[in-house]
Amino acid sequence: MSRLFAGGHIVTMDDGRTEHAPGWALLEGGLVAAVGDGSEPAADERIELGGAVVTPGLVNTHHHLYQTLTRARAQQSNLFDWLRELYPVWSLIDAETEYAAARTGLAELALSGCSTVFDHHYVFPRGRDGLIEAEVQAAQELGVRIVASRGSMDLGVSDGGLPPDELVEDIDSVLADTERLAGTLHEPGPGARVQIAVAPCSPFSVTGRLMEESAALARRLSLLLHTHLAETVEEDDYCRKLYGCRPVEYLEQLGWLAEDVWCAHCVHLSGGDIARFADTETGVAHCPSSNMRLGAGVAPVRALLDEGVRVGLGVDGSASNERGDLFLEVKQALLAARGREGPAALTARDALWLGTRGGAAVLGRNDIGSLEPGRCADLAVWRVDGLELAGANDVVAGLVFSAPHRVDRLVVGGEDVVRDGALVRADEAEIAGQHRAAAARLAP
Ligand SMILES: [Zn+2]
Repeated sequence: MSRLFAGGHIVTMDDGRTEHAPGWALLEGGLVAAVGDGSEPAADERIELGGAVVTPGLVNTHHHLYQTLTRARAQQSNLFDWLRELYPVWSLIDAETEYAAARTGLAELALSGCSTVFDHHYVFPRGRDGLIEAEVQAAQELGVRIVASRGSMDLGVSDGGLPPDELVEDIDSVLADTERLAGTLHEPGPGARVQIAVAPCSPFSVTGRLMEESAALARRLSLLLHTHLAETVEEDDYCRKLYGCRPVEYLEQLGWLAEDVWCAHCVHLSGGDIARFADTETGVAHCPSSNMRLGAGVAPVRALLDEGVRVGLGVDGSASNERGDLFLEVKQALLAARGREGPAALTARDALWLGTRGGAAVLGRNDIGSLEPGRCADLAVWRVDGLELAGANDVVAGLVFSAPHRVDRLVVGGEDVVRDGALVRADEAEIAGQHRAAAARLAP
């Protein structure tokens, strides 16, 4: 069945950043069949957009869905103190709480126009199975694409790491479980709805050996690699003391600067670090709200883009950015870049690019992130007739400047996930109720 979205402002995010206003997008067989303006093609169903803006579905490149369970804690802490307060609470999660958390986080993201979610899960309390399966199930039920990572920690506090010893795993178990999940869940190729990535947590919670063996496994299985890097000055000090070098140098020694890797945060980079990211085609997940919430700093996004580094956006876990809204993150990226570098640092459309094409590039996907023939039919429809857009003579820039917004419609693979601002396949109030009960079980 073909569907024509017509009478709107189509923001394609193709290489030329083409916009059709008024324009239309024709979807067929789960793919974009055509976009354009002028005379409309025939279709089985015609949907009148009434001037609404259509963008590609947004792509989230860093998250920890389980953290919706532990919001508004450690409110004045830096990253390390925040982690030390939260690790013991996180040690209580199980598949049931993870499922409730994932439903909440994924629903929030869908309602903010996000069609593809990367999740970095690295907390695996002993004896609690099925955590990754729980979040994949939640994504499939809601209708969004997920890239779920089998994360890991093996450097406990007694060995000089940050996490408590009871939350770290041994290397063999981590690698075996990662390979098992890849074998059962990972879909290679275009149009994938579920993928698996390999994601040891950070330099201060993972040994060098696990980093190296994770990379070898990922490359053997053709999976992407992800980790946290250069988030805070404390991490920088930690790496100098423990490894005798800075975080980016450490990662390079481990064979981790490469085109199959992207790193979250990258706030504290030198000019040389940025050049190494560019030379090696290593990607970056920029998480401005989380970085500002934890007082970590602001990543040098303008310099990264000028050097040609792939940059996407991440809401990051909901305990360090209590709002899981990716369109808000588009605005935050713009504001943070301008706060750091001045008003010319990033345009509204540059910021929107980061949340769409940029994110797709970071996840190694050329089947999502833009509205072009042959790409997945993942699109977000934004109404522009509300109070916050009144008087905006450029509705695309107006949407970014006035974010956040609830998406009017979210289409993933040609199917509605959100319609009239409500989830199509689930009930928001029921999700929130289930989540309240799950979060209460973790409350101290
Ligand atoms: Zn994170």
